[in-house]
Amino acid sequence: MDLGISGRTALVCGASKGLGFGCALALVEEGVNLVVVARSADPLADAASRLAAIGAEAAARRGAAAPFVKHVAADITTPEGRKAALALHADFDIVVTNAGGPPPGDFRDWDREAWIKAVDANMLTPIELIKATVDGMAARGFGRIVNITSSAVKAPIDILGLSNGARSGLTGFVAGLSRSALAGKGVTINNLLPGAFDTDRLKGTFAASAQKTGQPIDALVAKRRQAIPAQRFGTAEEFGATCAFLCSMHAAYINGQNVLIDGGAYPGTY
Ligand code: NAD
Repeated sequence: MDLGISGRTALVCGASKGLGFGCALALVEEGVNLVVVARSADPLADAASRLAAIGAEAAARRGAAAPFVKHVAADITTPEGRKAALALHADFDIVVTNAGGPPPGDFRDWDREAWIKAVDANMLTPIELIKATVDGMAARGFGRIVNITSSAVKAPIDILGLSNGARSGLTGFVAGLSRSALAGKGVTINNLLPGAFDTDRLKGTFAASAQKTGQPIDALVAKRRQAIPAQRFGTAEEFGATCAFLCSMHAAYINGQNVLIDGGAYPGTY
């Protein structure tokens, strides 16, 4: 299926590895130009050159021009980091918001600073990026925002209380904004909710659980996998494919949704 977004330009945050990289990969394969952001310069530069090579190969197969891939090492949760990312391109058509999740822990240990950090990263940063880009998208008649949130928005995970709380704030905001006048101007805003995906973040969550419970990591991994109807963890590539579809011309009528990708783990009907 041609997603109809070749030649568009996307900002993809947290894209040096994991789910953000998966989204960037799926978009560049569709001929989408990229600005990719992550904190560490070397892994990001490496990811950007891999993305550029894959984009050029896919474009050559279609007989099209290779998409560009620009990168900037920055902390997207800071005003300076966002400024650096937004300075690399004037008119983004697509924005994938993403930053590292807050640390796991016990709510008794979290002070105001911990909460502000989580809210900054997982609620206010996506809102700032949306604010900086959606009016331009609306003026040009096309825009796609995809926020990487978490299945914890629908089914909270106790040790991820900072994530449960901060991301729910973003979800409420997006529910309203996505249904505003932007919707009539070709701009859609949706959230993608990962369940368990095989990334470094998931490995970190298991390590924290092992420390808290005293159980071996292998046992925790096996238990979690068995609890997923699909009997496996998701891959960044399949996450990226769903993201690219939400960014496509075919998804123009999907707006304000919380799309779970979790191998059937969420137990509810709705
Ligand atoms: P990951 O650790 O594999 O990758 C995170 C990426 O984001 C890296 O490229 C890192 O450099 C970048 N990053 C982190 N903080 C950043 C910042 N402040 N500024 C710029 N870049 C930053 O993580 P992942 O598994 O890909 O997770 C992505 C998001 O999805 C996280 O918020 C995570 O909490 C959430 N999530 C992941 C899972 C999972 O199973 N992997 C499940 C639910 C939610």
